[in-house]
Amino acid sequence: MDLSENLKKIKARIEDAARRARRDPNSVQLIAVVKEADLDAVQQIVHLGVKDLAENYAQQLVQKSRVLEGVNWHFIGRIQTNKIKYIVPICEYIHSVCRKEELLQIEKVASRHRKIQKILIEVNISHEKTKSGLDESQLEEVLDFANTLEHVKVIGLMTMAPFTEDLTQIRSIFRELRRLRDFYQERYPSIIHLSMGMTNDFEIAIEEGATMIRVGRAIFKGE
Ligand SMILES: *Cc1c(COP(=O)(O)O)cnc(C)c1O
Repeated sequence: MDLSENLKKIKARIEDAARRARRDPNSVQLIAVVKEADLDAVQQIVHLGVKDLAENYAQQLVQKSRVLEGVNWHFIGRIQTNKIKYIVPICEYIHSVCRKEELLQIEKVASRHRKIQKILIEVNISHEKTKSGLDESQLEEVLDFANTLEHVKVIGLMTMAPFTEDLTQIRSIFRELRRLRDFYQERYPSIIHLSMGMTNDFEIAIEEGATMIRVGRAIFKGE
């Protein structure tokens, strides 16, 4: 698998999508999702200049972060409260926060490490039962709560589109996340980022305003 070729293709697709939306391609950050990649492949893409990596599992995060240097780590997996102590010291961003208990624990660990943890709140816009993320109706309360914490800074919102061929539905999910971001940004100006778009749908996400796309298979499997 020629990872450099895969990356080249993805970057061209990012540029095309950004151009269609009259956006600067540099306003879209490519985050490589490494949950299914072996260490050798991850090392290669870091050498190819991809410095933002995302992991779903705390234990994998700890292991991979030990051997890879110069990486900005993002955590995107389901959060187990007892694993937060491993995630916070390593990650620059945690994308998948949705419960107050998680926020409290992040605050505690971040305070101990004298850092301000940047996070995104995951919203389950499609209401799929299998998906994590909070319901839109809970967003205001969670954002107000996060704002009371000294070592937590909400810098954006994250979502996953449903697994469907229905592109209109996918687009409407991304559009709704953007609407929520625009709405809450007025109260909390640090809420800037939209983490949305994966291998199957990152071009639609870019057209709808994504600032962070999380791509795994397109990079590591050439899909
Ligand atoms: C696995 C995963 C991705 C990447 O998905 P691909 O289809 O491999 O691009 C993005 N975000 C989350 C939360 C994931 O779990």
